[in-house]
Amino acid sequence: MEDEREELGALVRQLRTHLEMRGRSGLLGVVAAGKPAPKRPAAAPSTPAAPVAAAPVGQPIVQPPVQPAAQPPVIDGLAAREPADPARPAGAAGLALVREELGDCQRCKLAPLRTKLVFGVGNPNADLLFVGEAPGADEDAQGEPFVGKAGQLLTKMIEAMGYRREDVYICNVLKCRPPGNRNPEPDEVASCEPFLKKQLAAIRPRMIVALGKFAVQCLLRDESPISRLRGNFRTYEGIPLMPTFHPAYLLRDPSKKKLAWQDLKDVNAALARVGVTPPNPPAA
Ligand code: URA
Repeated sequence: MEDEREELGALVRQLRTHLEMRGRSGLLGVVAAGKPAPKRPAAAPSTPAAPVAAAPVGQPIVQPPVQPAAQPPVIDGLAAREPADPARPAGAAGLALVREELGDCQRCKLAPLRTKLVFGVGNPNADLLFVGEAPGADEDAQGEPFVGKAGQLLTKMIEAMGYRREDVYICNVLKCRPPGNRNPEPDEVASCEPFLKKQLAAIRPRMIVALGKFAVQCLLRDESPISRLRGNFRTYEGIPLMPTFHPAYLLRDPSKKKLAWQDLKDVNAALARVGVTPPNPPAA
């Protein structure tokens, strides 16, 4: 009886030692006496609810990588607003100088056909500037850009962004109307483009919205279709530029208005990141 008790005691001691060793080595669902079982670390609040695979007890728990929050796109030049040419006046004085240089322009074959030269309109210190293609009949008659049907749509788009026409600046690649509203021709663009560039240099907006293929081609030298270019920020002379559809195209195909509106919302969001907000911000 005494022998049996001793034998049993020895067996119990051996078994305990064995279990303790296996527990320490993590091979068994038993942990060495006195050591608490490792706890699964609590998920960080921002961690997406990805399932965490249950690791065998004692094995390191591998957390899925934390997905970074979606970041807004990096837009070249968004943070900067430097004068293009410190030797030339900026703002209203700079624009007046450009208008003076343009004078009674006779540089291309459109000059004799025009009623009024259409220089541009709006805030000479605008943060936001729209560039269109060329004046149409209404603009030619009134001497102001974007006042016809396409212009009325552009005005609505500007207002939907939270601005008034007088808060932004509006101009065109060409300052004179092509006959019958035909497309601008390369020699006409070549004559007029230096004045557009000087207008942009005087105003130095925080953001340019290029309306349609001619404005985009002129400013970016990119012949890609506008349907591919639109919606992606680019840069003109260090100024962020958003290509989007021309309002006249939106009048012909209203189904594209949604895309154009998205582009303009992206413009507002980008400007907001550098503290530029419209006077009447649209409801979110
Ligand atoms: N289309 C343009 O591109 N510009 C105008 O001024 C009017 C219509």
